[in-house]
Amino acid sequence: MSSRRTTDRERRESLSYETVDLGVLVIGAGAAGARTAIELVERGVAPEELLVIGKRSHGDAHTTWARGGINGALGTHDPVDDWTVHAADTINEGHFLNDPAKVETVTRRMPDLLRELDGWGMPFSRTDENEIDQRYFGAQSFRRTAFAGDHTGESLLQTLIGRAQELSVPYRENVFVTRLLTDDDWVLGAAGYDMETGEFLLFEADVVVLAAGGYTSLYHRHSSRDDENTGDGPALAYQAGAQLMDVEFVQFHPTGMVGARYGDEWDGRLVTEAVRGEGGRLFNSDGERFMERYSPGQMELDARDVVARAIAREIDEGRGTDAGGVYLDISHRDRSFIQDRLPRMYERFAELGVDMATDPVEVAPTAHYGMGGVVVDETGETDIDGLYAIGETMAGVHGANRLGGNSLAETIAFGAVAGEAIAGRLARRHDSERGERTVLHDRAAIHFADLDRLVRSDGSYDPAALMDELRDLLWAHAGILRDEESLSVGLDELAAIRRRASDLAVDGPTSRSFEFVMNLAFALDVAEALLRGAAMRTESRGAHARTDYPDRDEDWQRNIRMTRDAVGAMRLETTPVAAPSDDVQAALDAGYELDYHQLE
Ligand SMILES: Cc1cc2nc3c(=O)[nH]c(=O)nc-3n(C[C@H](O)[C@H](O)[C@H](O)COP(=O)(O)OP(=O)(O)OC[C@H]3O[C@@H](n4cnc5c(N)ncnc54)[C@H](O)[C@@H]3O)c2cc1C
Repeated sequence: MSSRRTTDRERRESLSYETVDLGVLVIGAGAAGARTAIELVERGVAPEELLVIGKRSHGDAHTTWARGGINGALGTHDPVDDWTVHAADTINEGHFLNDPAKVETVTRRMPDLLRELDGWGMPFSRTDENEIDQRYFGAQSFRRTAFAGDHTGESLLQTLIGRAQELSVPYRENVFVTRLLTDDDWVLGAAGYDMETGEFLLFEADVVVLAAGGYTSLYHRHSSRDDENTGDGPALAYQAGAQLMDVEFVQFHPTGMVGARYGDEWDGRLVTEAVRGEGGRLFNSDGERFMERYSPGQMELDARDVVARAIAREIDEGRGTDAGGVYLDISHRDRSFIQDRLPRMYERFAELGVDMATDPVEVAPTAHYGMGGVVVDETGETDIDGLYAIGETMAGVHGANRLGGNSLAETIAFGAVAGEAIAGRLARRHDSERGERTVLHDRAAIHFADLDRLVRSDGSYDPAALMDELRDLLWAHAGILRDEESLSVGLDELAAIRRRASDLAVDGPTSRSFEFVMNLAFALDVAEALLRGAAMRTESRGAHARTDYPDRDEDWQRNIRMTRDAVGAMRLETTPVAAPSDDVQAALDAGYELDYHQLE
């Protein structure tokens, strides 16, 4: 009998993988990815040149969870509203850290893009005159949030999918992208695997669009599902050499359900702001209506960050409930009123054994939206040639705090803008521009060999448990209230998790544990960017509240960018914010009264 060791090189050469050759790969099948694909085909890109992929089944992206609405200054009820006021509201709510050019792109384009969606059959709620209805959202000067009942995100995605199917846009589900492949500063494609078969996949593409969502599921309590918003988009871009920005800014929604009271599967799910909009009052465990101390003018209807911080303080200072929340009570309203105005909430809590007409519900802040993401130019392209990042994956539109209804708007506007730019680029393409194929296959083979080793690894740590640890860490050390000491402890603990993450136990290529390994690799980088950014920003601004630096510092009107250096370490630098255009500055100077009175 003879034996010989298999070398890494031989293993690499023996690994098989499917190769898919494309003009454009769109990673992400939420609103942003779908809208990009539509624009590409409408501008003449052949459907067979493109592929949209997602981790879940078709139509089940995170976008479907959006309920409240999508912004665009149509002026249905308030004709004085226009895109400049929308831009001014966005910049005010973003505490002057937004990229004004990107804000302008979204706000200028949205009225036409909403009408276009209407033409594609989006079931917008309508006025008696059959116009697209619009309602108030928090911190908006006018009614400019269009909506489809309380299922706006679901209807939006269905409308986009319907349009994409008319245009024969191809889609492949259950694909997990694990790495972007580049040559110098040029994207060559992406590597990943089929989550059902475990087969490795190589996508060879001239252009890659990252529309892979955000990073709020990296918090212990969050408002999306556990396996989405895990930071894949920002981390894939960062690991490929693109820059991140504003990652320290995380919007906490004040009223998430409390898992210890209603069950883990409900933890963090939103209790709509409409409960407060319809008169709901917040009480601590001493029976005190505590918003009197924090915001005697606006009370429960103040902006999200103000109410979230107030609730967090009550809980931190020992005036929370045993389950770790506070009470939200609307029982002073008639049962019929609650059933009429808050039907879904009433039903949900009734199923959980709580009668909102007689009893309060328990709520606590929940991580809801990450304002940061990938640095892109005005067309959505990153520093890497041919790599675009759009939707919740990109940075720039929201600044230090997001205006409700603007994230769906961002997906649609930047989907259209990026699609337009990419279609133009493909029309000008020369074959000689394509990167070297052998480089792509060499890089893919090395990556697949790493994945292959990982899939069969029999280490000491459970990746799901480490992911939970990381979620607890961010909650504890980079939550609603932050300070230098706690952030520094958080960074040390993160380094310890990173060390353990090199010794993982995995159950095979189609196992949940393999997914967790991938999620963890992404999460560690995004968490590091978040903690470092939060430690560097020695001020309080928007969603970033430092107890040791409680005031806004005008010298800090700068964005923090995170880059991976040649040896893999994270480098931070700051860049100044550009000035708004004269039109937007005029709207800012006009000082429209922000209206906090109706929240969804
Ligand atoms: C409860 C809730 C309510 C909200 N309500 C509103 C609202 O009323 N108005 C508003 O404007 N915004 C709202 N938002 C925010 C808004 O829903 C999102 O910002 C928006 O839908 C993001 O869309 P997207 O296309 O960028 O990403 P997503 O919809 O998150 O789609 C990401 C896609 O990328 C895929 N993907 C991710 N990682 C990978 C990978 N590694 N490999 C392959 N595919 C991958 C996913 O499978 C998915 O298809 C809400 C958010 C939540 C959580």
